[in-house]
Order: sequence, then structure tokens, then C-alpha cells
Amino acid sequence: MVEKAEPLCRRALIIGAGIAGMQAALDIANSGYQVILVDKEPSIGGRMAQLSETFPTLDCAQCILTPRTVEVGHHDNIELLTYSEVESIEGGIGDFRVRIRRKPAYVNWDLCTGCGLCEEKCPKRVVSEFERWVGKRKAIYTLSPQAVPNKPVIDAENCIYFVEGKCRACEKFCSVEAIDFEQEEYSIEERVGAVILATGYDLYPTDGLGQYGYGRLPDVIDGLAFERLLSASGPTTGQVKRPSDGKIPKEVVFVQCAGSRDPELGVPYCSKFCCMYTAKHAMLYKHRVPDGQAYVFYIDIRAAGKGYEEFVRRAMEEDRVLYLRGKVSKIFQNDDKVIVWGTDTLSGLPLEVAADLVVLATATVPRDGAKELGRMLGIEADECGFYAEADGNMHPLETVRPGIFLAGADSGPKDIPEAVAQGSGAAAKVLSLFARWSSP
Ligand SMILES: Cc1cc2nc3c(=O)[nH]c(=O)nc-3n(C[C@H](O)[C@H](O)[C@H](O)COP(=O)(O)OP(=O)(O)OC[C@H]3O[C@@H](n4cnc5c(N)ncnc54)[C@H](O)[C@@H]3O)c2cc1C
Repeated sequence: MVEKAEPLCRRALIIGAGIAGMQAALDIANSGYQVILVDKEPSIGGRMAQLSETFPTLDCAQCILTPRTVEVGHHDNIELLTYSEVESIEGGIGDFRVRIRRKPAYVNWDLCTGCGLCEEKCPKRVVSEFERWVGKRKAIYTLSPQAVPNKPVIDAENCIYFVEGKCRACEKFCSVEAIDFEQEEYSIEERVGAVILATGYDLYPTDGLGQYGYGRLPDVIDGLAFERLLSASGPTTGQVKRPSDGKIPKEVVFVQCAGSRDPELGVPYCSKFCCMYTAKHAMLYKHRVPDGQAYVFYIDIRAAGKGYEEFVRRAMEEDRVLYLRGKVSKIFQNDDKVIVWGTDTLSGLPLEVAADLVVLATATVPRDGAKELGRMLGIEADECGFYAEADGNMHPLETVRPGIFLAGADSGPKDIPEAVAQGSGAAAKVLSLFARWSSP
């Protein structure tokens, strides 16, 4: 007897719940199909959740992101699996079998009400990766006050109970008994017909940019750290204070192309959105500290988007940001100043600025673990480690593997409008497959 084949599955898996993955999930879910949305972090939103305001409109990032994260979190057709990672994938288009590993939060999220008391009472404070090392969090934490889902996780490496065998303060104060130190990781298996990979980007690691003092000098930070200093929900509630002593910096140097367009560092490409966010940073700094001086070192300015050129002009002309054309050669500490050496390539003269704070627009690089995930999915990487499109011209959302699509900054640097457009584009590709398959 011939076995009847299972019908092609009209259900999608999206890996990565940044703005690109969320957009794709909402488009597919709103068309009546089910989506499994996986993110390795405890909550969704990706890098956009770390931003203060967005160029070129200066919209509050949280204000435009939160309606999306809430909609994703409540959508009947979206199964949200945060703090989870794809372990293996088998099969092919229409019939992928996926194993997803769920990491232990040590909190029963079904019972937790998200009251935040555990976090308040936890005695252990550690440096926060989400706050980009300029802020702290507790050992039991949510990424941000607007986190979706608004459920905490315990960081076992830093939790006093896990390390020393005593404390359990979170458990004592949890009125619904949601703390579960015995929780273990487990895996689930799901069947999906198509996959969208939307795992985004990282920034250049702290140990790779020695000439800038990055990772060594406390007042040399990267752009995401500056976003957290600007953010009302960040560690300084939006006041620009330098990390070393909390002083309001009066001279701030912004350095563009810190690592980008430098083949020796393995980053021959332009990181694309840094010219824009640097203009935004300098502008927002001037709004917060009107008597401060902002300098921008640049090689050239790439502002090729709608309203982008005008935005950079506004920083120069209205906010009086001083743009200096030249590459920085060295940054070092001298007493409480950070000295920046460079050359003004327009005048040919050497430049020295004694700054209070230096903000590096560090290179955009592939996510940690992107290579391994790509290999597991049978997706190729380009020479820089970003996921390779099947054809950059005519098929920018397809991969070489039928049924697996790309969206957002995991195939190369993209700003928010581009990531959103790609999320919708990848969703449309998936929906056109589902429309051709007869039954779920
Ligand atoms: C300092 C700075 C300022 C910026 N300011 C602006 C701005 O003002 N305007 C603008 O348009 N753009 C700005 N950008 C760019 C913006 O951050 C990106 O356009 C946007 O975040 C891209 O979204 P994404 O969804 O592609 O990726 P991401 O935001 O990186 O999201 C990817 C998601 O995938 C998850 N993930 C990663 N790996 C895995 C895995 N293996 N398994 C499961 N999940 C995984 C991550 O946890 C994350 O949630 C800025 C960037 C920087 C660095």
C-alpha cells in the first residue's frame, strides 16, 4: 500500500524577532497563517529596542517599536518562543522538521505576572550587555521595562544561589511562586513549510580596535552604548554622562568608520547606517548639552536615503556640529581627558582634540554564531560572513535553499526602513508559496 504523503505545511518559522522578523511575522499572521517566531534573547525587538530616537525623523524608538512588540506578543497566529534557539532542521520546502531548544529561565512564565518585585529584591548587580556595558542589571532580569514578553530570566552564572548555594531572595518575594530553580532546558519539534532568517547584526568586538582605546579606556564607547546613554529608559535616564565618573561631557568626539572600510580588519565594506546615526548622535548630544561641542571625524559622508542628506546638513548647520574630514590615528588617555589625534585631510594639518568622551561608530558585523546557524540550515555566507542571497540583484530575499528566505541586517547592514521592507518582502515570498499549496 502506498503511504499518503503529508500535505505541504502552510506554517512559517521565523528565526530572529528584531524589526525585520517581527514585520515578517505580522504580515504572515495577519494573512491568516500560523507563525513560530524564535528569538535567542528573553524578549523581542532586537537592536531597535536599544535605540533612543531614530533618524531622520527623531521618532522615539520605543514609541514606534512597542505597538509592534505588543501586537506580536498578543497575536493569535504567532507562537512566540523567546530564550530559544533552533537546534536542527531537516526536510525541505513545504516540510521542514525543526528542533527548537528552550533555555531555562528558572521562572515559570505561566505563573509569573511580570510584577518586577523579584528584580527589585535581587541583591546581585552585574554589567548589562543590553545596556552595552554602560549600565547594570540584576541577576534576575528583563531586558527593558517595555520587554515583551515581560517575564524575567535568572542568569545562573551570576545568581548568588546558583554560585554560592544561598540567597533565593527572588523566591521569597514572589507571591505567585513562579521561581523554579529546578527548571531544565528542553527541546520541542515543530513542522513548518518555510523559514525566514532574520538574525540581524552585531558590532565589532571590543578587543579588535586597539588604536582607538576601545575596550581599554572607559570613556571610549560604541554607538549602541551612546544610544543607551541617550535613552530615557537607559542607565542615565537620558542624560549624557560619561561612564568613568558620571560627569556631563563638554567635548565629545564621534569617530566614523571605526573598523568599517578597513580590509585589514576583515571589514572591507561600508557599514551603511553609521553616517546617519553619528549625525543623529551629535545632534541629540547638542540637544541635551547645548553648551557642549560635538566633533565628527569622517572619511566621507554617505547619506543616501530619503531626507538623509538634509538630516546631516541640519546637524552641521542648525546644531553646529563640527565635521572634520580625516581619519583618526590614535586615541589615548591623558589625565581625565581622552586625546584624539587625527589629520584634517582638507587642510592637511594635524588635529588634536582633548575630549571628555569618544563615541566610535564601530563596524557592523555578522551575528556571533551566524556561521554555525547558516551551516545547519544549508545557507551560504558571503566573503564577509553575512548570509548570501541567491542572487543579489534579482533574488535578494531568497537563499540557495528553496523555502528559506532572508530579511533584515543578517545579509548585510540595513537601516530600519530597509529591514522592515525586507521583512514584508520575505513574508510575501512565503505567502505566495502558501497560496500555491492547497491544504494546511
Ligand atoms: C548605534 C546604532 C544606531 C542606529 N540608529 C538607527 C536609526 O536611528 N534609524 C535606523 O533606521 N536604523 C538605525 N540603526 C540600525 C538598526 O539597528 C537596524 O536597522 C535594525 O536593528 C535591523 O533590524 P534586524 O531585525 O535586521 O536585526 P536586529 O535588530 O539585529 O534583530 C535580530 C534579532 O535576531 C535575534 N537573533 C540573533 N541570532 C539569533 C539566533 N541564532 N536564534 C534566534 N534569534 C537570534 C536577536 O536576538 C534579535 O532579536 C542603528 C544601528 C546602530 C548600531
